[in-house]
Amino acid sequence: MIFDILTLFPEMFDGVLNASMLGRAMEKGILEFNTVNIRDFADNKHNRVDDAPYGGGRGMVMQAPPIYSAYESIVRLRGKKPHLIYMSPKGKTLTQQDAIRLSKMDSVAILCGHYEGVDQRIIDEIVDEEISIGDYVLTGGELPAMVLIDTISRMIDGVLSNEDSFTDESHFNGLLEYPQYTRPYEFHGVCVPDVLMSGNHANIAKWRRDKSVELTGKLRPDMLKGLDQNDD
Ligand code: SAM
Repeated sequence: MIFDILTLFPEMFDGVLNASMLGRAMEKGILEFNTVNIRDFADNKHNRVDDAPYGGGRGMVMQAPPIYSAYESIVRLRGKKPHLIYMSPKGKTLTQQDAIRLSKMDSVAILCGHYEGVDQRIIDEIVDEEISIGDYVLTGGELPAMVLIDTISRMIDGVLSNEDSFTDESHFNGLLEYPQYTRPYEFHGVCVPDVLMSGNHANIAKWRRDKSVELTGKLRPDMLKGLDQNDD
Protein backbone atom coordinates (compact mmCIF):
# COMPACT_ATOMS: atom_id res chain seq x y z
CA MET A 1 0.00 0.00 0.00
CA ILE A 2 1.25 3.46 -0.87
CA PHE A 3 0.82 6.48 1.41
CA ASP A 4 1.37 9.87 -0.23
CA ILE A 5 1.59 12.51 2.49
CA LEU A 6 1.16 16.22 1.76
CA THR A 7 2.77 18.17 4.58
CA LEU A 8 4.76 21.26 5.53
CA PHE A 9 6.92 19.15 7.85
CA PRO A 10 8.07 15.97 6.06
CA GLU A 11 10.91 15.49 8.54
CA MET A 12 8.39 14.74 11.30
CA PHE A 13 7.57 11.42 9.64
CA ASP A 14 11.10 10.02 9.40
CA GLY A 15 11.45 8.53 12.87
CA VAL A 16 7.97 7.08 13.11
CA LEU A 17 7.58 5.54 9.66
CA ASN A 18 11.10 4.11 9.50
CA ALA A 19 11.00 2.42 12.91
CA SER A 20 9.69 -0.89 14.20
CA MET A 21 6.98 -2.78 12.29
CA LEU A 22 6.26 -0.02 9.78
CA GLY A 23 9.97 0.27 8.93
CA ARG A 24 10.23 -3.49 8.46
CA ALA A 25 7.11 -3.55 6.29
CA MET A 26 8.62 -0.79 4.16
CA GLU A 27 11.86 -2.76 3.76
CA LYS A 28 9.82 -5.81 2.72
CA GLY A 29 8.04 -3.66 0.10
CA ILE A 30 4.60 -4.06 1.70
CA LEU A 31 4.31 -0.34 2.51
CA GLU A 32 5.60 2.72 0.69
CA PHE A 33 5.70 6.20 2.22
CA ASN A 34 6.12 9.26 0.04
CA THR A 35 6.17 12.69 1.67
CA VAL A 36 5.52 15.74 -0.50
CA ASN A 37 6.55 19.12 0.90
CA ILE A 38 3.75 21.58 0.13
CA ARG A 39 6.23 24.45 0.52
CA ASP A 40 8.08 23.21 -2.59
CA PHE A 41 5.00 24.32 -4.54
CA ALA A 42 4.86 27.89 -3.22
CA ASP A 43 4.85 30.38 -6.09
CA ASN A 44 6.60 33.27 -4.33
CA LYS A 45 10.22 33.95 -3.47
CA HIS A 46 9.66 33.71 0.29
CA ASN A 47 8.07 30.23 -0.06
CA ARG A 48 4.98 31.42 1.79
CA VAL A 49 2.06 29.01 1.79
CA ASP A 50 -0.28 30.75 4.26
CA ASP A 51 -2.13 34.05 4.48
CA ALA A 52 -4.55 35.91 6.73
CA PRO A 53 -8.19 34.75 6.70
CA TYR A 54 -10.69 36.72 4.65
CA GLY A 55 -13.17 38.35 7.00
CA GLY A 56 -10.55 38.88 9.65
CA GLY A 57 -9.77 36.89 12.74
CA ARG A 58 -6.71 35.38 14.30
CA GLY A 59 -4.15 33.08 12.74
CA MET A 60 -3.25 32.15 9.18
CA VAL A 61 -4.86 29.83 6.66
CA MET A 62 -3.00 27.48 4.31
CA GLN A 63 -3.51 28.75 0.77
CA ALA A 64 -5.17 26.66 -1.93
CA PRO A 65 -2.69 27.02 -4.86
CA PRO A 66 0.39 25.29 -3.33
CA ILE A 67 -1.74 22.48 -1.88
CA TYR A 68 -3.42 22.00 -5.25
CA SER A 69 -0.06 21.90 -7.06
CA ALA A 70 1.31 19.37 -4.53
CA TYR A 71 -1.83 17.30 -5.10
CA GLU A 72 -1.39 17.49 -8.89
CA SER A 73 2.17 16.16 -8.49
CA ILE A 74 0.66 13.05 -6.83
CA VAL A 75 -1.91 12.70 -9.62
CA ARG A 76 0.93 12.82 -12.16
CA LEU A 77 3.09 10.38 -10.16
CA ARG A 78 0.33 7.77 -9.68
CA GLY A 79 -1.45 8.36 -12.99
CA LYS A 80 -4.82 8.69 -11.22
CA LYS A 81 -6.74 10.79 -8.73
CA PRO A 82 -5.74 9.64 -5.24
CA HIS A 83 -8.23 9.01 -2.45
CA LEU A 84 -7.42 12.15 -0.48
CA ILE A 85 -7.98 12.28 3.27
CA TYR A 86 -7.73 15.61 5.10
CA MET A 87 -6.78 15.21 8.76
CA SER A 88 -9.15 17.59 10.55
CA PRO A 89 -10.74 18.04 13.97
CA LYS A 90 -13.99 18.65 12.06
CA GLY A 91 -13.82 15.22 10.42
CA LYS A 92 -15.43 11.90 11.26
CA THR A 93 -13.76 10.36 14.31
CA LEU A 94 -11.40 7.56 13.28
CA THR A 95 -12.49 4.02 14.21
CA GLN A 96 -11.08 0.53 13.70
CA GLN A 97 -13.70 0.01 10.99
CA ASP A 98 -12.27 2.98 9.06
CA ALA A 99 -8.80 1.45 9.34
CA ILE A 100 -10.10 -1.88 7.98
CA ARG A 101 -11.93 -0.11 5.13
CA LEU A 102 -8.94 2.01 4.13
CA SER A 103 -6.48 -0.90 4.37
CA LYS A 104 -8.27 -2.46 1.39
CA MET A 105 -7.19 0.40 -0.90
CA ASP A 106 -3.92 0.16 -2.78
CA SER A 107 -3.02 3.79 -2.03
CA VAL A 108 -4.25 6.81 -0.10
CA ALA A 109 -3.06 10.41 0.03
CA ILE A 110 -3.18 12.33 3.29
CA LEU A 111 -3.27 16.12 3.62
CA CYS A 112 -1.88 17.55 6.87
CA GLY A 113 -3.13 21.00 7.79
CA HIS A 114 -1.38 23.60 9.92
CA TYR A 115 -2.15 27.04 11.40
CA GLU A 116 -5.95 27.55 11.25
CA GLY A 117 -6.35 24.85 8.62
CA VAL A 118 -6.66 24.90 4.83
CA ASP A 119 -8.70 27.05 2.43
CA GLN A 120 -12.20 25.53 2.23
CA ARG A 121 -12.02 25.38 -1.59
CA ILE A 122 -9.37 22.64 -1.31
CA ILE A 123 -11.70 20.57 0.88
CA ASP A 124 -14.62 21.13 -1.48
CA GLU A 125 -12.69 20.34 -4.66
CA ILE A 126 -10.23 17.53 -3.96
CA VAL A 127 -10.73 16.05 -0.48
CA ASP A 128 -12.64 12.74 -0.38
CA GLU A 129 -13.02 12.50 3.37
CA GLU A 130 -12.09 14.38 6.53
CA ILE A 131 -10.88 12.29 9.45
CA SER A 132 -10.36 13.40 13.05
CA ILE A 133 -8.39 11.43 15.63
CA GLY A 134 -10.49 12.79 18.49
CA ASP A 135 -12.37 15.75 19.90
CA TYR A 136 -9.37 17.96 20.64
CA VAL A 137 -7.18 20.24 18.53
CA LEU A 138 -3.53 19.65 17.71
CA THR A 139 -1.12 22.12 16.12
CA GLY A 140 -0.88 20.18 12.87
CA GLY A 141 -2.13 17.18 10.91
CA GLU A 142 1.19 15.33 11.01
CA LEU A 143 0.62 13.42 14.28
CA PRO A 144 -2.97 12.54 13.26
CA ALA A 145 -1.65 11.33 9.87
CA MET A 146 0.89 9.09 11.63
CA VAL A 147 -1.88 7.67 13.83
CA LEU A 148 -4.00 6.96 10.75
CA ILE A 149 -1.09 5.38 8.83
CA ASP A 150 -0.13 3.19 11.79
CA THR A 151 -3.63 1.84 12.35
CA ILE A 152 -4.27 1.21 8.63
CA SER A 153 -0.86 -0.44 8.16
CA ARG A 154 -1.30 -3.08 10.85
CA MET A 155 -4.42 -4.32 9.05
CA ILE A 156 -2.38 -5.11 5.94
CA ASP A 157 -1.16 -8.68 5.38
CA GLY A 158 2.48 -9.15 6.34
CA VAL A 159 2.86 -6.01 8.47
CA LEU A 160 2.33 -7.76 11.81
CA SER A 161 4.38 -10.84 12.51
CA ASN A 162 2.53 -14.17 12.24
CA GLU A 163 2.02 -14.55 15.94
CA ASP A 164 0.48 -11.08 16.33
CA SER A 165 -3.21 -11.34 15.52
CA PHE A 166 -5.43 -8.29 15.48
CA THR A 167 -8.72 -10.17 15.28
CA ASP A 168 -9.20 -10.46 19.04
CA GLU A 169 -7.74 -7.05 19.82
CA SER A 170 -9.79 -4.22 21.29
CA HIS A 171 -12.31 -2.72 18.84
CA PHE A 172 -11.89 -5.29 16.07
CA ASN A 173 -15.08 -7.12 17.04
CA GLY A 174 -16.73 -4.34 18.99
CA LEU A 175 -15.26 -5.42 22.36
CA LEU A 176 -12.21 -4.47 24.40
CA GLU A 177 -9.48 -7.09 24.66
CA TYR A 178 -9.30 -9.47 27.65
CA PRO A 179 -6.52 -8.97 30.25
CA GLN A 180 -3.07 -10.28 29.27
CA TYR A 181 -0.41 -11.84 31.54
CA THR A 182 3.17 -13.01 31.03
CA ARG A 183 6.11 -14.21 33.20
CA PRO A 184 6.69 -14.06 36.10
CA TYR A 185 3.81 -16.24 37.33
CA GLU A 186 3.65 -14.24 40.56
CA PHE A 187 4.16 -10.47 40.76
CA HIS A 188 3.80 -8.50 44.02
CA GLY A 189 1.84 -11.42 45.46
CA VAL A 190 -0.63 -11.61 42.56
CA CYS A 191 -0.69 -14.83 40.55
CA VAL A 192 -1.81 -15.40 36.98
CA PRO A 193 -5.47 -16.66 36.82
CA ASP A 194 -5.58 -20.49 37.12
CA VAL A 195 -7.48 -20.98 33.86
CA LEU A 196 -4.56 -19.55 31.85
CA MET A 197 -2.27 -22.18 33.42
CA SER A 198 -4.71 -25.05 32.75
CA GLY A 199 -3.78 -25.77 29.12
CA ASN A 200 -7.52 -26.20 28.38
CA HIS A 201 -7.97 -24.11 25.24
CA ALA A 202 -11.76 -24.14 25.27
CA ASN A 203 -11.85 -22.90 28.87
CA ILE A 204 -9.23 -20.25 28.10
CA ALA A 205 -11.21 -19.02 25.08
CA LYS A 206 -14.41 -18.83 27.19
CA TRP A 207 -12.61 -16.99 30.02
CA ARG A 208 -11.18 -14.49 27.55
CA ARG A 209 -14.54 -13.85 25.91
CA ASP A 210 -16.24 -13.43 29.33
CA LYS A 211 -13.49 -11.04 30.48
CA SER A 212 -13.78 -9.04 27.24
CA VAL A 213 -17.51 -8.58 27.77
CA GLU A 214 -17.03 -7.78 31.48
CA LEU A 215 -14.26 -5.22 30.81
CA THR A 216 -16.18 -3.61 27.97
CA GLY A 217 -19.26 -3.27 30.19
CA LYS A 218 -17.16 -1.70 32.92
CA LEU A 219 -14.92 0.62 30.85
CA ARG A 220 -17.00 1.27 27.71
CA PRO A 221 -20.69 0.47 28.29
CA ASP A 222 -21.51 2.48 25.14
CA MET A 223 -19.78 -0.23 23.07
CA LEU A 224 -21.97 -3.02 24.49
CA LYS A 225 -25.08 -1.03 23.57
CA GLY A 226 -23.79 -0.93 19.98
CA LEU A 227 -23.27 -4.72 20.05
CA ASP A 228 -26.79 -5.38 21.40
CA GLN A 229 -28.27 -3.33 18.56
CA ASN A 230 -26.19 -5.18 15.95
CA ASP A 231 -27.32 -8.53 17.41
CA ASP A 232 -31.04 -7.64 17.00
N1 SAM B 1 -8.91 26.01 13.20
C1 SAM B 1 -9.16 24.60 13.09
C2 SAM B 1 -10.49 24.27 13.76
O1 SAM B 1 -10.86 24.95 14.71
O2 SAM B 1 -11.15 23.30 13.35
C3 SAM B 1 -8.04 23.80 13.78
C4 SAM B 1 -6.77 23.87 13.02
S1 SAM B 1 -5.49 22.93 13.79
C5 SAM B 1 -4.75 24.12 14.82
C6 SAM B 1 -4.31 22.72 12.50
C7 SAM B 1 -4.37 21.41 11.77
O3 SAM B 1 -4.11 20.36 12.66
C8 SAM B 1 -5.67 21.06 11.10
O4 SAM B 1 -5.77 21.66 9.83
C9 SAM B 1 -5.59 19.56 11.01
O5 SAM B 1 -4.91 19.13 9.85
C10 SAM B 1 -4.78 19.19 12.24
N2 SAM B 1 -5.56 18.69 13.38
C11 SAM B 1 -5.72 19.30 14.57
N3 SAM B 1 -6.48 18.58 15.40
C12 SAM B 1 -6.81 17.44 14.74
C13 SAM B 1 -7.58 16.29 15.09
N4 SAM B 1 -8.18 16.16 16.26
N5 SAM B 1 -7.67 15.30 14.16
C14 SAM B 1 -7.09 15.42 12.95
N6 SAM B 1 -6.36 16.50 12.57
C15 SAM B 1 -6.21 17.50 13.46
